[in-house]
Amino acid sequence: MEKLIVRFGTLHDNVGKPRRNGVLVIEGDHITEIGDRVAGAADKTGGARVLEAVCVVPGLINAHAHLEMSGEAQTTSVFVLTTPTQRTMTCAENASKSLRAGVTTIREIGGTENIAMDLRDTIDAGRLPGPKIVAAGQPICMTGGHGWWAGRQADGPWDVCKAVREQRRGGADCIKFIATGGVLTKGAVPGIEQLTEDEMRAGIDEAHKHGMHCAAHAIGTSGIKNAIRAGIDSIEHGHLIDDEGIRLMVERGTYLVPTLSAIMCIIEAGPDAGMPDFVTRKAREILEHAEGNLRKARAAGVKFAGGSDAGTPFNYHDAYWRELELMQSMLGMDAREALFAASASAADLLGVKRGRLQESEIADLLLLDHDIDSDARAFRDPTVVIKNGRIAADRRTA
Ligand SMILES: [Zn+2]
Repeated sequence: MEKLIVRFGTLHDNVGKPRRNGVLVIEGDHITEIGDRVAGAADKTGGARVLEAVCVVPGLINAHAHLEMSGEAQTTSVFVLTTPTQRTMTCAENASKSLRAGVTTIREIGGTENIAMDLRDTIDAGRLPGPKIVAAGQPICMTGGHGWWAGRQADGPWDVCKAVREQRRGGADCIKFIATGGVLTKGAVPGIEQLTEDEMRAGIDEAHKHGMHCAAHAIGTSGIKNAIRAGIDSIEHGHLIDDEGIRLMVERGTYLVPTLSAIMCIIEAGPDAGMPDFVTRKAREILEHAEGNLRKARAAGVKFAGGSDAGTPFNYHDAYWRELELMQSMLGMDAREALFAASASAADLLGVKRGRLQESEIADLLLLDHDIDSDARAFRDPTVVIKNGRIAADRRTA
């Protein structure tokens, strides 16, 4: 069994206080020991490969990404003008980019066909590089609803239930419902409700029965509350949430995935970047309220899980670091809280045993050149990415 020893200056394990000057030992795909650098038996290398890092953190988990999209200015055209074969190759390329940038687990939260599920199985079999994929299959939306160009359009509780069964048949791990309008679809107003509470409840009950968790695209105030009352596990975006919505989320333990990168990448690119006018207009309207609302939610104790909506305009799969920096600058988190949201908390939401560095856990971790406590940019460009105990990317040799 291959053995790796990582000597670290600081280890953020998402469990306790940072550990200083120690070693972390990996055998096979698991962490077998975390100990003291000098006294630990692990320091007797015994032919093991030894790596050095200023800082070690858990592999990042992006709980909201679209692997068939690559940050194009015109999102709809990605689906209308390309073939499933082309999107399959895009999906594989973006998975590989995500992994190299430190994302060791990714939730593909809305694509077409069975592309993400098939890629998941191909990656699990070791045939292509990429993060562990948790896939939703097609998003389920009302006829003509947000994302209909990629989604399974369903109307009425029984049809929504059937749409869930179809995603499960295709191999989906989780389900995504569209509860409100969205930014990237022409004519879909973010503040307006789409699937009804009854429709979502039928779909969520069916998904939960089969052990699948459920996410709702929900930007508008009343649609967010419909999804929470229907039993959703996570609110995606949540930007126009009100006090009642916040209270409901705290009561029920619903996660919020803030996708700040999705808005900020559109705003920063500006109106001349080739996006349809309605996209920049809607993003600007949402930004006016998002920061204040999400800060309130955080202060009230809502659980945040990191997700960037990678693939949306100018929001690239190798830039998940941006979401961690935005959670700090816009929501007031410190680096450790942002890391926790983008690893341990996201793992809990996805139901994967990842995101914490302890003995007997799967060895998904990043070696960084700078400590996250002292350098807000530390998450950019990890030196080494380790997934399932193996070196998946190594910038020192690149
Ligand atoms: Zn999305």
